[in-house]
Amino acid sequence: MADHGVVLVLNAGSSSLKFCVYRCVDRGAWQPDVRGQIEGIGTSPRFSAKDEGGEKVDDRQLDVAVRDGPSALEALANWLRGRFEGARVLGVGHRVVHGGARYAAPAVVTPTVMEELRQLVPLAPLHQPHNLAAIEAVSHRLPGVPQVACFDTSFHRGHHAVADVIPLPADIRNTGVQRYGFHGLSYEYVASVLPQVAPEIARGRVIVAHLGSGASLCALNDGASIDSSFGFTALDGLCMGTRPGAVDPGVILYLFQNLGLSATDVETVLYKKSGLLGISGISNDMRVLLASSEPQARLAVDYFVYRAAKEIGALASTLHGIDGLVFTAGIGENSADIRARICNASAWLGIELDHEANQRQGPRISTRASRVSAWVVQTNEELMIARHTGSLLGLTAGDGVAAMT
Ligand code: ADP
Repeated sequence: MADHGVVLVLNAGSSSLKFCVYRCVDRGAWQPDVRGQIEGIGTSPRFSAKDEGGEKVDDRQLDVAVRDGPSALEALANWLRGRFEGARVLGVGHRVVHGGARYAAPAVVTPTVMEELRQLVPLAPLHQPHNLAAIEAVSHRLPGVPQVACFDTSFHRGHHAVADVIPLPADIRNTGVQRYGFHGLSYEYVASVLPQVAPEIARGRVIVAHLGSGASLCALNDGASIDSSFGFTALDGLCMGTRPGAVDPGVILYLFQNLGLSATDVETVLYKKSGLLGISGISNDMRVLLASSEPQARLAVDYFVYRAAKEIGALASTLHGIDGLVFTAGIGENSADIRARICNASAWLGIELDHEANQRQGPRISTRASRVSAWVVQTNEELMIARHTGSLLGLTAGDGVAAMT
């Protein structure tokens, strides 16, 4: 291990720090070595890690002193030092939720970049501060190691103005109120593998459905994003685990004016209490809802499917018809049931499901006769970040920037 350079990929949230270590085996080729997370930061921190074969390599409770981003990073760095003793950290790639209107591509972190990213905190107050804190913690812990910020918004920056405008007065729009789109690293990865996995649609009109605890759609034309179901924030569009997706803005006014909720209450309702959890009152986990016979669990699943199919119809119109539909992320990759229901609700577009292939999880899940093909593709946002980090830093296996000490 000591002979290899490694790239560390970090995804820092409010209470978790997810990581993935990639070995640079050849120019541009990245081999995952270990992935894991520290969860429960600030409450009951727990470290877990798996190797590339999915075997558990560690799983233990951490000291409660791991109570914030920097202490979590410190704990991770200590663990990595034990596993990768002497290995060279060639670079650190971060998932950063917001790159604003400006960052249409990942960026090497500099003080100027950090200043610009800090200005975007009001656009993503729940996520951006944690992403930036992780960058700062790494610069203290591994000074001199170059870092790359990879944005969830960048992939959507080629949209026509009409797709991104929010029809409010100019003085409001000028503060940054526009549609940005998210899940961009996932869509970029899926678009990058379509030529191998689904060559017949890779250059065509494709809707990708990223259905995880967050859920959205992306309309791809020749591998480029032309629209997304996410808008100004990651609250828009599809029904999600705890977020509602599109709601009439009049409802939000009603919450303030008639129910007397504070801004913090409304934020909690919209980010943590709605969607599948809000409708069912049982769970935000699709597996639990599918296994339940409670009428409210059924309604939640029905709405999830209904909304997804409705938004697929909307993006199909944006694309003037589609050639393919691709499912990805936790629900999209694992639930044959939800895929079947969404495909059946979208049969009018020309999708004919191959039920056996759907049970096998694809990759192709439509019949040969289907006018529009349907697919399952595993997303890999961490690998996308490692690739960006490697290419932006011009890394090769022979480089050495800093020892893991
Ligand atoms: P995140 O957005 O947190 O990365 P994932 O993409 O990992 O989320 O998706 C997590 C969600 O996927 C879970 O909340 C669960 O609802 C759903 N999921 C995972 N496996 C299955 C399955 N076999 N059937 C239905 N839903 C599943």
